[in-house]
Amino acid sequence: MNELAVIFNPQKISIGKLQKAFTKQKVTDASFFATEPGTNGAVATKEALALGAKHLIIAGGDGTIRAIVQELMESKADVTLSLLPVGTGNILARNLSLSVTNLDANLKRAINGSDFDIDLGIAKVLDKEGNCSTFFFTGIAGVGMDARIMQRTDLKAKKRIGWFAYIEGGFKSLPLKFEKFDIQVDDQPVRTIKSYSVLVGNAGWLPGLISMMPDARLDDARLDIALIGPRKFWNWVDFLSRITWQNQVVRPLALGRKWLDQTANLKTIENLNGSRIRIRPHHPVLLQVDGDPQFEIIEADFKLLTKGLRFKL
Ligand SMILES: [Mg+2]
Repeated sequence: MNELAVIFNPQKISIGKLQKAFTKQKVTDASFFATEPGTNGAVATKEALALGAKHLIIAGGDGTIRAIVQELMESKADVTLSLLPVGTGNILARNLSLSVTNLDANLKRAINGSDFDIDLGIAKVLDKEGNCSTFFFTGIAGVGMDARIMQRTDLKAKKRIGWFAYIEGGFKSLPLKFEKFDIQVDDQPVRTIKSYSVLVGNAGWLPGLISMMPDARLDDARLDIALIGPRKFWNWVDFLSRITWQNQVVRPLALGRKWLDQTANLKTIENLNGSRIRIRPHHPVLLQVDGDPQFEIIEADFKLLTKGLRFKL
């Protein structure tokens, strides 16, 4: 029985490089499992659990993390996770304030760090045929145009062109189509809105210090929502400056924050938060979960498993 298991994506990091880093830290009792291309690590996770793993170190990107977390939740496993981010976006790692370049430092934290519990997002969705599926997510899920943009662009392209260009270019290059959504936050009255996308997240920061939900926290028992609906050219300019420099320069100031909140509305970007968010699009819309496009849905019910994932970092 080996309690320390490493699940790694061999397309992102070689087992040789990993083992060298482990030897350097004098850790000799870890077992290594490579993720398989088709399932992103679900099979490797099953194998590690079957061998008694209690502490999983994930060397992969957000896609690998999502597949592993999904498997852990479905098998109700009680394990602690650590991250060696080697992906392209590394959104969870960035929101956990981990380095995305220093393998040795991250491994040290994985071995000697302290526990940090984060909330886990749960999306229960209905597809057009009425089938129900449950997805777990650590970052951001969304319905509408964001999912369609992701379906078209792979992560490598996002990294190559930069996330700002990716978001800006994505919205520009697809035919803009408003969707109508009925949306209910907790027990508040149902609102019908016209928006390009509804994003629901727990980790708000994207690479390049871009955030569409700057108040999102991983452990605040709340899900943050971004409704994206610029109408006119000027609204797009406002939207793009809000998600970039205004978060850095204006939001940290008390007055700046007040001004941003008072002037935010659905015509640019509107932020809400709650512990349960129910969304019913008037037409089927595409769903993405942590950046992976899924399928068209007719209903989504978002909740949190409060402090549902334990990390050691
Ligand atoms: Mg939160």
